[in-house]
Amino acid sequence: GRELDAAFFVRWLTAAAEAVDREADQLTELDSPIGDADHGGNMRRGFFAVRDALGSEPPGTPGAVLMLAGRTLVSTVGGASGPLYGTLLRRTGKALGDAGQVSEKELAGALRTGVDAVAQLAGASEGDKTMLDALLPAVGALSEGHGLAAASTAAERGAEATTPLQARKGRASYLGERSIGHQDPGATSSALLLAALAQTAAL
Ligand code: ADP
Ligand code: MG
Ligand code: MG
Repeated sequence: GRELDAAFFVRWLTAAAEAVDREADQLTELDSPIGDADHGGNMRRGFFAVRDALGSEPPGTPGAVLMLAGRTLVSTVGGASGPLYGTLLRRTGKALGDAGQVSEKELAGALRTGVDAVAQLAGASEGDKTMLDALLPAVGALSEGHGLAAASTAAERGAEATTPLQARKGRASYLGERSIGHQDPGATSSALLLAALAQTAAL
């Protein structure tokens, strides 16, 4: 299969920053009824900082690119999504080690490690109406060898499937039953990140 180098991961995160910028208003709109209306702004600030950090000193390995991106998210995003996405990228990057190139299969294994670390930090699992409802189906598709396009589709479906759920974690959980009927903003941004990954790999 194809080998992914540091430049590929910079392209992914740059595409992610563009997608987040394009969808920021919608992410904030989703965060209005069941949150504090800042998810679009949080994601935009974080991913613009990631793009700037990678642009000024691009690291030489996939692992180092992801770890720098994760550290940048943690230090620039105040909301819950900052440490969660920061953990996702840092732990995924760490799992890739110092290889100069990685296969899609190695990336799939590393993403599994990263998503599991998010679940542990968050104390959340599938069905709690969080970003994990998009991330867990995506890594599930990858574990079954279905590839990045299928992972992106799984994330999108997972995000849509959060609408009828009652939130059990995060700010939305304070609303109890009133959280039902709204798509989770973090699951929606996770689907965007997976879509950017699949699109970058398809180029
Ligand atoms: P905040 O809620 O601090 O304002 P954001 O609005 O940026 O942060 O992000 C909200 C998203 O973060 C939620 O939609 C949810 O997907 C995710 N999230 C928040 N808390 C948790 C948690 N404990 N576990 C998993 N995901 C969470
Ligand atoms: Mg918020
Ligand atoms: Mg907030």
